[in-house]
Amino acid sequence: MNSPSDLAPVFAFDNSYARLPEHFYARVLPTPVAEPVLLRLNRALAEQLGLAPAALCSPAGAAMLAGNQIPNGAEPIAMAYAGHQFAQFVPSLGDGRAILLGELIDRDGVRRDIHLKGAGRTPFSRAGDGRAALGPVLREYLLGEAMAALGIPTTRALAMVATGEEVYRERIERGALLVRVAAGHVRVGTFEYFARRGDTEAVKTLADYVINRHDPACAEAEQPYAALLEQVVKRQAELIAQWMLVGFIHGVMNTDNVAISGETIDYGPCAFMDSFHPQTVYSSIDHFGRYAWDRQPRIGYWNLTQFANCLLPLLGADEDDAKQAARAALDSYGKAFEARYYGGLRTKIGLLDARAGDEDLALDLLGRMAAQQADFTNTFRALCDVAAADPARDAPVRALFDDPSAFDQWAVQWRTRLATQTQPDSQRQAIMRVANPAYIPRNHRVQQAIDAANKGDLGPLERLLEVVSRPFAEQPTQTEYRQPPRPDEVVERTFCGT
Ligand code: AMP
Ligand code: MG
Repeated sequence: MNSPSDLAPVFAFDNSYARLPEHFYARVLPTPVAEPVLLRLNRALAEQLGLAPAALCSPAGAAMLAGNQIPNGAEPIAMAYAGHQFAQFVPSLGDGRAILLGELIDRDGVRRDIHLKGAGRTPFSRAGDGRAALGPVLREYLLGEAMAALGIPTTRALAMVATGEEVYRERIERGALLVRVAAGHVRVGTFEYFARRGDTEAVKTLADYVINRHDPACAEAEQPYAALLEQVVKRQAELIAQWMLVGFIHGVMNTDNVAISGETIDYGPCAFMDSFHPQTVYSSIDHFGRYAWDRQPRIGYWNLTQFANCLLPLLGADEDDAKQAARAALDSYGKAFEARYYGGLRTKIGLLDARAGDEDLALDLLGRMAAQQADFTNTFRALCDVAAADPARDAPVRALFDDPSAFDQWAVQWRTRLATQTQPDSQRQAIMRVANPAYIPRNHRVQQAIDAANKGDLGPLERLLEVVSRPFAEQPTQTEYRQPPRPDEVVERTFCGT
């Protein structure tokens, strides 16, 4: 029989960030929590990280995931960063309630950060309590997993732990901690932190670090830093295009929430849209719609411009050279975004080759969906079923439009275009079904899972996680999760809840 010590998890840490100069972070230990209870462990992810799920579930494991016990080899640090928040520059943000425990190399050889969010105060906490509430922790867990299942780059959750403490927000909430796993936590804001201080040496050290970690091929390029900028631009353009294609609104695209790795990070007041409207905003603090669905591509560009500014001292022999290199890299953004976005839209409507007029056809559909309050996810998914020649079977998709004739008019042009393709209907439909999810974590379902968890019932979370983990599968017994909210279930605002 195993003794408890046999069960203690073993983390094979290798902490590259903690080897960077001391002013890149603060060394700080998590503040122990009153009574750690492991609410959920992501077993598949644990295995991917080379961690034994059974050991993580032991009391010693839960204590480590809560920050109450520091595993061997961990070097806990709070990373320094700055950021533009709603266009206002804040020179010092940093990990105010998150602590990087260390890094593991996963089964695919990818270095991944193990990060405790809600681990207590750090030198960057300012007035904050360093803690997190169960609701936002659950949202981040759920949305990260849904995003990963959709095939979109994202940080993920390894575990969710209750702290047995209360946190004080707009009301008293149950405290919790998220164990977040990321390909890296360097953000545009990390570069801004040093650039704004005129610390070019640190900008260079950081750039070399991310090249080594995320873009080793750039080191061989003639202009390594320009090559890095191009890579980051490309990843961000593609990430935002992928969000757009599933109706996702990030909600706080501040530069401190833009990861150099190209992963979606910081699921705060974010949501997937139900009925389509391009100006949809969910964040309770986004009063001017800065981060509305249709503004995300422009904001992405703005954020990357801040990144390019940080790199300027590294981009050329003189200022003109540097600016030219920055501009060239930033100019690639539009093309990269459009290729991914319009390519994606084309696939979503079943056009498997590219022809003139395709973009207009796709945009015409979006315009009609917006005017007719059609559900984003359900409309595209229903199109998969009707992407054959016979309009007599259009009823399910027509019904999603307030005025079904708006769909009929579009469908005439659509079928004319589909008829120019030669592949069998079934083949086209199969391709569409892996571009158009049936299941997203609808905001009202997320809210129901949070409300239940706050009352001690994790059942709704478990069921929702199971459904959104297979977003492209039909799942005939789960169709209730495809339903948009009833009027009394609509959630119009989501809160940071920090
Ligand atoms: P976020 O809105 O989560 O992206 O966080 C923005 C900044 O506020 C980061 O520097 C966080 O570390 C900090 N922050 C958010 N919530 C807290 C909290 N409860 N305690 C301390 N710092 C916090
Ligand atoms: Mg953040």
